[in-house]
Amino acid sequence: MLSSMEAGESLNLSYASLSILENDDKLWVGVTRADGSKCDRCWNYSPAVGTLEGHPCLCERCYSVVTLNPVQKTPVAV
Ligand SMILES: [Zn+2]
Repeated sequence: MLSSMEAGESLNLSYASLSILENDDKLWVGVTRADGSKCDRCWNYSPAVGTLEGHPCLCERCYSVVTLNPVQKTPVAV
């Protein structure tokens, strides 16, 4: 964490890492990272994460899924 932050202070390293990230899924992470927090359920980043009452770790989509479809308990056939 600390080392990556220190590397970001260098324009050259920052630019180089950016071009590398373009060829990696990390570019997606980097872009969405600034747009909110990571949902604990679907791992998507959303500004709604942390704002939903009762589900501070979920995005608005997962929140609606969870609230509309409560955890289904699979009946155990004995
Ligand atoms: Zn989610």
